[in-house]
Amino acid sequence: MTIQTSEKLYAEALEHIVGGVNSPSRSYAAVGGGAAVFMKKGKGAYFWDEDGNRYIDYLAAYGPIITGFAHPHITEAIKKQAELGVLYGTPTTLETDLAVMLKKAIPSLDKVRFTNSGTESVMTTVRVARAFTGRKKLLKFAGSYHGHFDLVLVAAGSGPSTLGSPDSAGVTESTAQEVITVPFNNVDTLQHAFEKWGADIAGVLVEPIVGNFGMVMPQPGFLEAINEIAHQAGSVVIYDEVITNFRFMYGGAQNYLGVTPDLTAMGKVIGGGLPIGAYGGKKEIMDEVAPLGPAYQAGTMAGNPLSMASGIACLEVLQTPGIYERMDRLGKKLEDGMHAVNEKYHLPIAINRIGGAMTLYFSDHEITNYEEAKATDSKMFGRFFKYMLEKGVNLAPSKYEAWFLTTEHTEKDIDETLEAVDYAFSQLAKS
Ligand code: PMP
Repeated sequence: MTIQTSEKLYAEALEHIVGGVNSPSRSYAAVGGGAAVFMKKGKGAYFWDEDGNRYIDYLAAYGPIITGFAHPHITEAIKKQAELGVLYGTPTTLETDLAVMLKKAIPSLDKVRFTNSGTESVMTTVRVARAFTGRKKLLKFAGSYHGHFDLVLVAAGSGPSTLGSPDSAGVTESTAQEVITVPFNNVDTLQHAFEKWGADIAGVLVEPIVGNFGMVMPQPGFLEAINEIAHQAGSVVIYDEVITNFRFMYGGAQNYLGVTPDLTAMGKVIGGGLPIGAYGGKKEIMDEVAPLGPAYQAGTMAGNPLSMASGIACLEVLQTPGIYERMDRLGKKLEDGMHAVNEKYHLPIAINRIGGAMTLYFSDHEITNYEEAKATDSKMFGRFFKYMLEKGVNLAPSKYEAWFLTTEHTEKDIDETLEAVDYAFSQLAKS
């Protein structure tokens, strides 16, 4: 497979766009460098690059594309709305319709607000928690990525940690001092942090199932402990479900696990691939938001008709019976298949999978927190990524990201992927 056109296009992009990409994780910096492949079109579980190569895709655009590329129902909804105008700056029924769908699926949402991105949603939940409690500090978990606003670029994971710069330049010391970071899946440290700073903690921000140092489940009782400890101290519990909403079932990870936060930030899947974010939760907290309350949040594009129409159509597709069971079944086939392939090669691998989302780590032990994820073999992952790409399988170019199955992947795609895994593992085993 040659990617000469991509190489040319990447070189050109480097002259005009910082780093050649509009989001750092799209570069191949974390997998040994090289030209990022330029895609030209996508359909279902596949996309094609500028050289005409076809890839089975597991990036799913970092999550939103759960129904595959150019799903006919979503495309039709977008086209229909585009003909009626893409933005009015007034309320539309589409906003209420999507809000009602979210509320029905996720019962902890008394009220919601739409934004344009996951970052905006998480950022606002933190502001609202501060407004509600009158406190300053935020507690979050090491390695979790919550977007790119200042407060969460303090010892953050995902993009920043992959590039080896845990703190971003431009984030001030005083901001950093408002953030407490503790390890995921460790109740003792959480308790200790609350003993020390409890009276100042406005909110605890957590991904109920982590998606940003790979997919990592909370250990039994961990989320319940967060609720108990935070509520006892009068702090707000915020779930960042930007990755997890509608990922494992029709609803959030909170439904999947049977736990309830005070506020939830959402994004990705609920827009069907168009820019979106949303946040919501308990009425008494949400009523802090302007125009009802003193906490300000706004957006020219927030709740725009195109994103709403696309999001509604996506959730409609996700209501198809059996759709999540199918992603889980294919996910299991892929996971089991990788272990079976590895019986020939004996590489150190660990796989964390929840439904159709999984992470392959090059490690000889289980991954339960960021420190363990960080210690996995980055170089081996980088080489694995390139071998898979060479065989027409596209993954996220980072050992910390997840593989996402879509509703469009088939048994045959999994078989083809496993052939690529066999090739990649055989190459890795050689050296
Ligand atoms: N929270 C989580 C858990 C995320 O994974 C991301 C993005 N990967 C964000 C927030 C930020 O979302 P966005 O990129 O839409 O701003």
